[in-house]
Amino acid sequence: MACTSESTVQLNISVRGLAEAQSRSGGLAGTYYGGVDGLAGIRTHQRYFEMLAADERVSQLATEQSLSESYISEDTRLLVKGRADAWFYSGDDLVLAEVKSFRGDAARLPRGGEAVHWDQAKLYAYMLLILTGNEKLVIELTYVSAETDETIILKKDADFASLESFFHTTCRSFVESTRSLRRYLAARNDANKAAAFAYDSLRKGQKALMRRVMDSMLSTGILLANAPTGIGKTIATLYPALKAQANGKIDRIFYLTHTTSTRLVAADALADLRAAGFLVRAITLYAKESLCLEPDLFCDLKRCPYAVEYYDRVPEALSALYRLQAINPDNLLPVAKKHRVCPFELSLDVSMWCDIIIADYNYCFDPRVRLQRHFGDEHEVMALLVDEAHNLPARAREMYSARIRFSDLTNVYTLLKSNEQAPPCEGQPSLQAIVDIAAEQLIAWHNRLAAVAASLAEPAESGPRGFTLLDPQITASDMAGTETFVATRRLPDHLLHVLSRVYRALGLVVESFPDWEHKMPLLHLWFDLAFFLRIGLTQFNDTYLLTLNRENGGDWLLSLQCLDASEPMCRSVADGIARVYFSATLSPLTFFLPQLSLPQDDVETLMLPSPFAGKNRLVLASDVCSIRYKDRQESLPLVTELIRTAVSRRTGNYLVFAPSFAYLKMLRARIESSSWPADWDLMFQTPGMSNPARAGFLNRFNTYGAKTLVAFAVIGSLFNEGVDLTGSRLIGVVVVGTGLPGISPERTLMGEYYQHRLGDGFRFAYVYPGFNRVLQAAGRLIRSETDRGFILLIDDRYKRDDYRQLLPEEWQTRHVGGAADIAAHIDEFWAD
Ligand code: SF4
Repeated sequence: MACTSESTVQLNISVRGLAEAQSRSGGLAGTYYGGVDGLAGIRTHQRYFEMLAADERVSQLATEQSLSESYISEDTRLLVKGRADAWFYSGDDLVLAEVKSFRGDAARLPRGGEAVHWDQAKLYAYMLLILTGNEKLVIELTYVSAETDETIILKKDADFASLESFFHTTCRSFVESTRSLRRYLAARNDANKAAAFAYDSLRKGQKALMRRVMDSMLSTGILLANAPTGIGKTIATLYPALKAQANGKIDRIFYLTHTTSTRLVAADALADLRAAGFLVRAITLYAKESLCLEPDLFCDLKRCPYAVEYYDRVPEALSALYRLQAINPDNLLPVAKKHRVCPFELSLDVSMWCDIIIADYNYCFDPRVRLQRHFGDEHEVMALLVDEAHNLPARAREMYSARIRFSDLTNVYTLLKSNEQAPPCEGQPSLQAIVDIAAEQLIAWHNRLAAVAASLAEPAESGPRGFTLLDPQITASDMAGTETFVATRRLPDHLLHVLSRVYRALGLVVESFPDWEHKMPLLHLWFDLAFFLRIGLTQFNDTYLLTLNRENGGDWLLSLQCLDASEPMCRSVADGIARVYFSATLSPLTFFLPQLSLPQDDVETLMLPSPFAGKNRLVLASDVCSIRYKDRQESLPLVTELIRTAVSRRTGNYLVFAPSFAYLKMLRARIESSSWPADWDLMFQTPGMSNPARAGFLNRFNTYGAKTLVAFAVIGSLFNEGVDLTGSRLIGVVVVGTGLPGISPERTLMGEYYQHRLGDGFRFAYVYPGFNRVLQAAGRLIRSETDRGFILLIDDRYKRDDYRQLLPEEWQTRHVGGAADIAAHIDEFWAD
């Protein structure tokens, strides 16, 4: 939404948004009858278009037609835009087809179609008549099953006069209902154009970052910015984005983060900007599970009191929230409770009128929770500010991977078969048959997978193994694995077909027993199967593996594992969205550019140096020990000695990163059997540390100066990120090894994939991610201008050219030898 002049406000809205804003009433729509989002919907539409194209009665077929029309009132120009699904001629009749995908039983669709879908179709129909010059047409509201392609077509005749009247009435009503919000937008723009930066001075590098962010906003370009700790990157990205928004260049800003703590940092930065005169309505989105007021109902929308009559009650709840500037669970939940509306849906609805949305990455990139209302329409001009962007590639791979657990199959089977917990269908043979079929499908499929899993432990010569048992076309050469892991790049014939039978059988149980009290595990499995099928049908290609592996706890998992999510992630962000990816460790760029699917020519990059004085940090790389797996036992005594030497030069707090828990165990045994000073405090991370335990570990750093504390942690785990030990709380970091992730069949297959794609498999699968962990670990040191301390890297690979190239230039790393050399350098540093 944008303001163009003092007297006339320009509003943009999608056809869907306009129809929904005006026509929604009653309760929330069911998640399984209410439509299909994202790729599954697109594929369903495509199949329907193909069917239309093959229909002999159809001529002049046009699909995805962009249409727009303005409504002009006294002070407002409302531009309504959208893409009509399809239009064509059937004989002499002009036909506008509005296509909706659905899941589940067609009998559950609203009789006569959803009112909001008809309204959408009528808005498109009006614009189409303007485009073609026709006087009348036929509107077809078409529901297509995403699972079976079953198609239900509802038809209505319409003429120009009635559609024109409908368009004007709808637009007028919308303009009236948003008058106060538009006044807010005008006031916001005036305030934010005039407002100054939040602080008296700019930090080193901050101005350069702000300038480049502003360039991206103005050109809707892409910026990849490596901005070290201390630059103040949160506010340096928000400030120019808000200025661009105030000047009508951007409608909405998304600030996307990886963790709750970084979301809080963004909210704090906005508070500082408000204190400096900015007017910013921002919402921090939280997951449905954390906001839900009736978790036991598992979104049974017919029973949840916050879902029924949602649309009738939500206007008042929205009015209450519009008065706020910073919307978060603390003020959202009381409003939701007072007006008896679902807080999660309320948060999404109010986000449509927020200037900034602070959210996890998944609200933009995850195909399951991506916000269709923001990213599915073309009418918004958006900016994405992606914080801690080095985490995005790995997170995106998770988002595009699908899994089914063996234990879920057996648990649901047990539920369906157990006398006490099975759905009550006494004396109802047809319902009993539904339950029995679902149970049989489940156990049959579980047993087939269990046979695949069991065969992995059999010798190769004993007969067919692994996925060959599912599909004889898959041979040993198509698979790679161990006794607890097997992977193939091929989807066995019939796998998805069989799984969709299981899915449909479970769906029938879900629909037949909506009030069954034990249905929650079944629903979980049903949704997992739906996503598995969706990924299998719409995504599986050479960037995927089908895997079966055993978790630590013993459970088996069948997975569609994404090796590279760059393409789908890129597709989920439309062209014309300004994007800024930033982090303190977006290095090396050769690693991140392809993983974010950013073409080098279209991306601006910015590599900023640390704002802190280089003399406050000493970086040493000792090359006398090999930390390769085969050499670890042998080098352990020397490594222990190097650590001890480094931390003995000054009393203080130190953090030592070991390459793995196994190594940490060896290191601990070695330290405890040698004569480390008794007055030093030693602390060791343990596997599976809880949040309170982690907090307790970090609290120990609040005491410093009187005695030495050496804390040992594992690289890449709990203490690599989100640890901010300023001042004297941390004066030295030791990293043992090069951070390489452990060798695993999965990662080796990822290496093969990158070898094929970029010709540098080992580096992409192991070296670059490993070194990124080293950068993160080293980044725990020097968090403010006055911090001082040393980083000691221990591994002889750091003397190799390929590793030397990875070491940041500004570190001015000194390559040193053994304990005496280390002691001399550190003594000199502390003496300075
Ligand atoms: S309150 Fe909870 S159960 Fe009810 S609709 Fe919202 S999320 Fe679903």
